[in-house]
Amino acid sequence: MPELPDAGSLPARLTPRDFDHWNDLVTASDDAADREVVAPYTGDAFCTAPESTPDDVATAVADADAAQSRWADRGFDARTDVLERFHDLVLDRREELLDLMQLETGKARGDAYEEVMDVAMTSRYYATRVADQLASERRRGALPLLSTARVHYDPVGVVGIIAPWNYPLTLAVGDALPALLAGNSVVLKPAEETPYTALATVELLREAGLPHDAFQVVTGDGATLGDPLIERVDYVSFTGSTAVGRKIAAKAGEELVDCSLELGGKNPVYVRPDVDVDTAVDRAIGACYTNAGQLCISAERLYVHEDVYDEFSRRFVDAVADLEPGTEYAYGVPVGSLISESQLERVEAHVEDARDHGATVETGGRVRDDVGPYFYAPTVLTDLPRDATAACEETFGPVVNMEPVASDAEAVRKANDTDYGLHACILSGDVDVARAIARDIDAGTISINDGYVTSWAAHDAPMGGMKDSGLGRRHGEDGVVRFTEKKAVSTSRGLPFDPVTGPTDLEAKVLAAGLKLWRHVPFLR
Ligand code: NAD
Repeated sequence: MPELPDAGSLPARLTPRDFDHWNDLVTASDDAADREVVAPYTGDAFCTAPESTPDDVATAVADADAAQSRWADRGFDARTDVLERFHDLVLDRREELLDLMQLETGKARGDAYEEVMDVAMTSRYYATRVADQLASERRRGALPLLSTARVHYDPVGVVGIIAPWNYPLTLAVGDALPALLAGNSVVLKPAEETPYTALATVELLREAGLPHDAFQVVTGDGATLGDPLIERVDYVSFTGSTAVGRKIAAKAGEELVDCSLELGGKNPVYVRPDVDVDTAVDRAIGACYTNAGQLCISAERLYVHEDVYDEFSRRFVDAVADLEPGTEYAYGVPVGSLISESQLERVEAHVEDARDHGATVETGGRVRDDVGPYFYAPTVLTDLPRDATAACEETFGPVVNMEPVASDAEAVRKANDTDYGLHACILSGDVDVARAIARDIDAGTISINDGYVTSWAAHDAPMGGMKDSGLGRRHGEDGVVRFTEKKAVSTSRGLPFDPVTGPTDLEAKVLAAGLKLWRHVPFLR
């Protein structure tokens, strides 16, 4: 039996009963093993969640499959009504959700607030756009007047979602929303560290009118549950590390199941010489230290034009040194905790390796266990050699390497000198020049004069990674069409020749002449 939290270990708006109820939403047998869930602010296990088994995955997918066609049959209007009610519920219950996210992840409240806003905006965006985006549409047939084609966007069936811990609301549910609107059911495997944010959100979806079986949650070990899930679902939406993404892609290939992979990054910021330095420092801090750097699109490489390097670097290091972490369940704390001991060890190892390679630690570079067991001081490195781990591998923590560049061209070359291609940020007084530079940077999304929010919150534009940062795109039309099977229905009104014997001499000549003419008629091209 799962162990429930003591009321004293919970933030004020949450009760032990909430967790009991959320545990009941997991597809797991009554005698399931338990897994401890840890509160990063204290390092203590505050609750245990059931550990689903591969058999539970089979049950979850079968139940989701049974519910799917009834959900799809409700049509767009009924489905968008559910999402619109969900939109309001997420905003109304935001304080409880923020408490829960802070409890599970140790993030600052402002970082959690971004998730609430994001999920509400995603709901609104797809609820208002999906009927157009997935409307059956007419396409050109093979021959003008003699044939027509129509494309239909059918739901794929059951969508499997495997999510990470760093944005437990946005990344567990944000992709599920368009999947559901397209008429699919969903089976979600949230990260081991953050089951409850996902479960609380599923509860809100059900309260908004989503049929219970249309959204199943299995919790527990990714390596155990991943394969059984991929074997049974009709599409896999994965967000997480590049290493696990490769395994998901291999298994999806074996099963011939389509997938999208939103993976890691090693994102650059380029500070041009024409910036207002104060504004650039603010934006760069947002780009680098949001969510204590545990954000796939946050920056870990800072290239500063040499004309402003001295002034920018001085002010930037001072401002980073002033970022005081905290554990309050209140707005105004700039930096929260890392998620876990293993994440802390990874960050420490990257900084120690940087020191061993001769890098200078300008500020930070130490554990802040005076605040909480997994806190790490926001850190700026300089003189980091290319072969140091932190120069090329994703740290996924509050650690940034800063170096001067002599030109836009050098900045672009260095920005592209990575296996990743998720996001980049350009800070410049000249937007036209920044836009031209953006065209040369190999990244799926690029934010100009903003750390990352401008890109992420552009819900109408596709978002995803180049190179080792992933496959496929979320957001926009791409973000919902991926959850459909495109079906093309073509109708013949009679071929201009006998389909068995082929054309006669005359028909062949007429057809060839017709094709030649066709190329020159703009209306028919
Ligand atoms: P992770 O890859 O370790 O885990 C992600 C999910 O995959 C978890 O639910 C985990 O249980 C599951 N998993 C682990 N092994 C599995 C396996 N063999 N088969 C199937 N599932 C398995 O990632 P993480 O540590 O939770 O998250 C951090 C990483 O995620 C970082 O690399 C970060 O950049 C990346 N990320 C990317 C995006 C994006 O949109 N591109 C967003 C957030 C995080």
